[in-house]
Amino acid sequence: MLNVHSVESLGTFDGPGVRLVLFLQGCNFKCLYCANPDTIEMKVAKPLSVDEILQMARNQRPYFGKKGGITVSGGEPLLQARELIPVFKALKEDGFNTCIDTNGSVLTPAVKELMEYTDLVLLDIKQMDEKAHQELTAVKNQLTLRFASFLHSINKPAWIRYVLVPGYSDKEEHLHKLGHFIESMSNVQKIEIQPYHKLGKHKYDALGWEYQLEDVEMNTPEQLHRAETILKSYGKETIIN
Ligand code: SF4
Repeated sequence: MLNVHSVESLGTFDGPGVRLVLFLQGCNFKCLYCANPDTIEMKVAKPLSVDEILQMARNQRPYFGKKGGITVSGGEPLLQARELIPVFKALKEDGFNTCIDTNGSVLTPAVKELMEYTDLVLLDIKQMDEKAHQELTAVKNQLTLRFASFLHSINKPAWIRYVLVPGYSDKEEHLHKLGHFIESMSNVQKIEIQPYHKLGKHKYDALGWEYQLEDVEMNTPEQLHRAETILKSYGKETIIN
């Protein structure tokens, strides 16, 4: 059984093509900008079996086309790596494209096995600077960077996702550090810059949590363009998502 927070049909933002996206419950980070703070708490949400997930995927197969498939996001999906193995195994046996959207903080034997059934990893690198990462997510970034190196070592296709938060993750030196870190990783196919937004703010109010980025403005087109130019200079396809 997977512990699922919610399910999105016909998603177009989390991986190639049109996708069925499962958001799992529970996360080990607490990002200041998290748009789904209600997925963070480690609690039992909606249990879904392998068969139920396979059936959902089969029902939506006509919409997936050549590129689409299933993405598991969160929360942090790799916290449920052991439970995900039979799900991805069944999906692959049925010919579906599989994708994981992760903060990269878990690298257990189960995660390594899960990678055998994963076509693409969307790896969220929140910050290259350790101190700034901790300020933004409440944890350090070594595990994420170790996971990135692991993906490179097994040549697993990956897209890097980077949320550009003004004042928190948009310093030029940190963007250069990211570009430098991944420039030699041949498995990294693309970088997605994700503009900062406050769409999840009302959820903080509902949870009774303080939204600490109240004063942070959305990115200007110039800020996004500057980040795009810096990251592109390291030779990777870079888009603003
Ligand atoms: S890693 Fe993702 S789900 Fe977890 S707190 Fe950060 S943004 Fe939210």
